Amino acid sequence: MLNLSGIYFFAYDWAFRAGLEYPAVLFSVLFAAFAFGACWGSFLNVCIWRMPRRESVVSAPSHCTSCGYDIRWYDNIPVVSYLVLRGKCRKCRTPYSCRYFVVEVVTGLAFVAIFLKAAAVNQTPQTVLLYWLAFWYLLGAAWIDAKHRIIPDDLTFPVLVISIILSGVFPEAVGQKVWWKGVVSALASAAAVSGFLYVFSLIGRKLAKGRDALGLGDVKLCGVLAVTIGIFGCCFSLFAASIAGIIYGTVLAVKRRRSIGRFAIPFAPFIAGGAVIWMFAGNWILEFFRHINHLQ
Ligand SMILES: [Zn+2]
Repeated sequence: MLNLSGIYFFAYDWAFRAGLEYPAVLFSVLFAAFAFGACWGSFLNVCIWRMPRRESVVSAPSHCTSCGYDIRWYDNIPVVSYLVLRGKCRKCRTPYSCRYFVVEVVTGLAFVAIFLKAAAVNQTPQTVLLYWLAFWYLLGAAWIDAKHRIIPDDLTFPVLVISIILSGVFPEAVGQKVWWKGVVSALASAAAVSGFLYVFSLIGRKLAKGRDALGLGDVKLCGVLAVTIGIFGCCFSLFAASIAGIIYGTVLAVKRRRSIGRFAIPFAPFIAGGAVIWMFAGNWILEFFRHINHLQ
């Protein structure tokens, strides 16, 4: 059987070792990671615009939302085209939202940073793939949630399926050796976290008299997190998000002179923030807790 995991590991190991010796190789690898991330960022922009409007992200080609002009491939190159066209449609010159540029650049830079961090602390290369997927998904979910107060299932479910498949192809990423154990472990993590949070959200709704304490979209988002960054990471993200959310809500309540229960706060951006902290500092956070445990 073709060992995809082995080939990928070899490529990663080679790129990093060669990169340390030859800066040109490292630079090329980092550039490739940026370009790869920027392409995914470009696709994410399509998702962010179309998914809340219930439009297909695959069937219709990219077009100007103002004049309907079909965007040619050379005007659709991530980051570059936006700069060349100075953020305007080639035909009608209507300015595009700066979101297109921001999402592409941020995704590209995040892919580079995740690669570098994993290489620096000896995280498995399989983790890099799962973290890339997690970051891509979280950026989209947070953006859509902040704007429309929903997290589309059209975004969550495919990502969940892909993350479970990745756990099968690269079982090492979830601490397993055989493909089916990787899949079972991923399924179990997603089910455990989502199941627990679903019950929690039902109880919350009862206590809050029908208002959602935790939306269903957030429950599913945490299922994806459990597979991609692990159950510890998911718990940390929720914990950090709750604290940040309460602080944000209190500040908003004081500013608007209304009680904190009067307005809904999109939760996904806060969970995403917690998850990004975990992706970059999770191993140190774990070590810190182990250290505290050790002291007692
Ligand atoms: Zn146009």
